[in-house]
Amino acid sequence: MTVIRQQDFIDSIEDSLQFISYYHPLDYVKAVEAAYNREESQAAKDAMAQILINSRMSAEGKRPLCQDTGIVTCFVKVGMGVTWDKTDMTVQQMVDEGTRRAYLNPDNPLRASIVADPAGARINTKDNTPSVVHIDMVPGEKVEVMIAAKGGGSENKSKMVMLNPSDNIADWVVKTLPTMGAGWCPPGMLGIGIGGTAEKAAVLAKESLMDPVDIQELIARGPETTDEKLRVEIFERVNQLGIGAQGLGGLTTVVDVKIMSLPTHAASKPVAMIPNCAATRHAHFHLDGSGPAELTPPKLEDWPEVTWEVGENTRRVNLNDVTKEDIQDWKVGETVLLSGKMLTGRDAAHKRIQTMLDNGEGLPEGVDLTNRFIYYVGPVDAVGDEVVGPAGPTTATRMDKFTDMMLEKTGLIGMIGKAERGPATVKSIAKHQSVYLMAVGGAAYLVSKAIKKSRVVAFEDLGMEAIYEFDVEDMPVTVAVDSTGANAHETGPAIWKAKIEDLDNALSK
Ligand code: SF4
Repeated sequence: MTVIRQQDFIDSIEDSLQFISYYHPLDYVKAVEAAYNREESQAAKDAMAQILINSRMSAEGKRPLCQDTGIVTCFVKVGMGVTWDKTDMTVQQMVDEGTRRAYLNPDNPLRASIVADPAGARINTKDNTPSVVHIDMVPGEKVEVMIAAKGGGSENKSKMVMLNPSDNIADWVVKTLPTMGAGWCPPGMLGIGIGGTAEKAAVLAKESLMDPVDIQELIARGPETTDEKLRVEIFERVNQLGIGAQGLGGLTTVVDVKIMSLPTHAASKPVAMIPNCAATRHAHFHLDGSGPAELTPPKLEDWPEVTWEVGENTRRVNLNDVTKEDIQDWKVGETVLLSGKMLTGRDAAHKRIQTMLDNGEGLPEGVDLTNRFIYYVGPVDAVGDEVVGPAGPTTATRMDKFTDMMLEKTGLIGMIGKAERGPATVKSIAKHQSVYLMAVGGAAYLVSKAIKKSRVVAFEDLGMEAIYEFDVEDMPVTVAVDSTGANAHETGPAIWKAKIEDLDNALSK
């Protein structure tokens, strides 16, 4: 009988979470490299270049790929022949202990994003626990672990449906994907769970994302089973939608589609779809009683030599003296390099600002938004001589409910985030002659290098959700909504969907 040491299990969880915080799986890197090489949309190509450069920088610097270091999701398959050297902790407790140590590691602290009392006070648990653990008892004498750190932006876009038995699953996916926007930071993967019951389909969808990217191999050898055929069909039809990297329009939206299925009730066809984002992070290891897992670091030569340089005519903006008049010339799709001071704020800070304004208290001390830009971000804590840890954009769509109020009452002239804005917010941006700029989601370590100074100016108790003042130098962003209300997330995918149709028609002639 194999004896697994509790300490080995905890150490392996800790090590693997640190490992995946800065090493992308190489299969994902290679898939994005291939997509980058074939991409014809400049905006999507630029976004993928930043994702690949960020990936290499994170591997080199051993710092998180993304400021959202995820919710730990762990599949543990325990062999029936396994016993443990100690029985005072459950598997859940051991995973949580490994998570706690990984996220509080002083050399590479990861952002604690988990809040307790989710329907109420939403208090940060400070160590990213509890993790989500799925345990299976399986034949054998080993413990198998598949562990992921799943980003909130992509998890938020998960969908679930109970289809009729005769409904077409690919049709549902193709209809549903455009409703998910770009907050899941494509290009990524789709995990699809089919069958079982409602909750089992969701677990299957998540587990399917633990497999490496291999759709090109599948296409090359030819799909055989129902699930394989469906994978290829969905992969092709989704990429024909033209959504593209970061939703800006382009040839690659997904680099793979995974499917796991189980038998189901004759009356049912449960389907769950969970996207994985540009911060695809997962590791897979076995414990056989001989010690903790050993994860082999990839070699830096395995990353492509991608460079990204802004064009000569790129607009450079000094945020310290920019005015509303200045931003009227900025055109949707344009790349802008920002230098100077900006304030940050995300969900909790916006909510508190709204409450303070509603109560007639005015803005918090130290926060003057007149002619300023706000950056939607919750950075990772700095280490060593860093000014700030990885600090990429969070999904702007979540701030839509506050945007009209912010533009109306605070003097704010622009916002920086990721993903699309809702129709009412786009109208509000046009009404206030404001702009919305987009930074690349999933390129957080790269973005943080443009931040030269950082200090907390308000709401320190909110931790990573506090309001910071950043002083940036040449921070690259794209105008996603300009002051006329032109919207890159609408025009980009529409243009590329039409181009792909033309391309396909030409090929089929
Ligand atoms: S890549 Fe995007 S969705 Fe993924 S963790 Fe980062 S910000 Fe969230």
